[in-house]
Amino acid sequence: MANKVLVLGEVREGVLRNVSFEAIAAAKQIADGGEVVGVLLGDSVANLASELIAYGADRVVTVEHPHLKSYTSDGYSQAFLAVCEQEKPEGIIFGHTSLGKDLSPKLASRLSSGLISDVTEIEGSGEGAVYIRPIYSGKAFEKVKVKDGIVFVTIRPNNIKPLEKNASRTGDVASISVDVQNLRTIIKDVVRKATTGVDLSEAKIVVAGGRGVKSAEGFEPLKELANLLGGAVGASRGACDADYCDYSLQIGQTGKVVTPDLYIAAGISGAIQHLAGMSNSKVIVAINKDPEANIFKVADYGIVGDLFEVIPMLIEEFKALKV
Ligand code: FAD
Repeated sequence: MANKVLVLGEVREGVLRNVSFEAIAAAKQIADGGEVVGVLLGDSVANLASELIAYGADRVVTVEHPHLKSYTSDGYSQAFLAVCEQEKPEGIIFGHTSLGKDLSPKLASRLSSGLISDVTEIEGSGEGAVYIRPIYSGKAFEKVKVKDGIVFVTIRPNNIKPLEKNASRTGDVASISVDVQNLRTIIKDVVRKATTGVDLSEAKIVVAGGRGVKSAEGFEPLKELANLLGGAVGASRGACDADYCDYSLQIGQTGKVVTPDLYIAAGISGAIQHLAGMSNSKVIVAINKDPEANIFKVADYGIVGDLFEVIPMLIEEFKALKV
């Protein structure tokens, strides 16, 4: 059994990302009665500790330093290693996010541990836990068991259910002082691209467009539908390559991996590299004018038709339902 499991609370613009709460639920399962410790790194993050505790962390350790204001792998690895030195964890869980994907291999190497990345499900608990992760672009699943050493896991967002929030839970919050130094990169300024506000990797609803959308303007109805449903807009690489939208929206093998409750694919053929990023979505609706399009093979609901007719009809229907 992992007696102590550390969970990195990932903070973006002063807010904890949902995957942090999902990671706490996973940590509880691995710890199997042991202790779950939340870790917060930043320049001013201690105020978020109570939220980690409300979602199940037993206590929280913070490292605050001006050099941790923005993520750098040097700064975060120094801070997290200092926490590991003090806490001597048997388990570590990060979100399989851009940050988690960058930081976890470096830390695993420093800690001489293995790394089980992109886990979508955990069977069993404690020492008997089996970690399930997609391989070959989601065509097969691998089951991994850890024999010894630190259990270091990254979990794919939107797959493991967080525990119920309980604001009355209490736990210790302590800070560790770390002299974060010798950074090889310094972030001077962060310039954000304008987005709909919903984070694509964590969105519950994604409306994605492909080359069939035909232009940047063609994405407008998709954005309207996504806004109406409280979702995010995504895209195929075909649409990004054609300059209809930014590469930050790309979903697939070389883009983001999403697992929303509802994925609407409009004008996307369903190439294997695209499916790698979305085929685990809970419900898939495909809109394509080619009845033979590959996307229909993974779709729960298929609409054969012109997306420029179908999407406005969906918008009208959802408006009428006042979702
Ligand atoms: P297309 O294949 O051109 O499909 C357009 C679809 O739109 C067609 O099915 C057509 O019937 C339909 N259509 C056209 N007009 C309409 C209309 N008016 N209404 C309804 N339907 C319409 N791709 C990704 O998406 N993500 C990745 O991460 C990715 N990584 C890759 C990595 C590698 C190494 C390689 C080699 C490729 C990768 N690709 C990736 C590219 C992938 O192979 C496909 O080329 C790409 O996904 C195709 O994009 P698309 O479906 O938008 O375009």
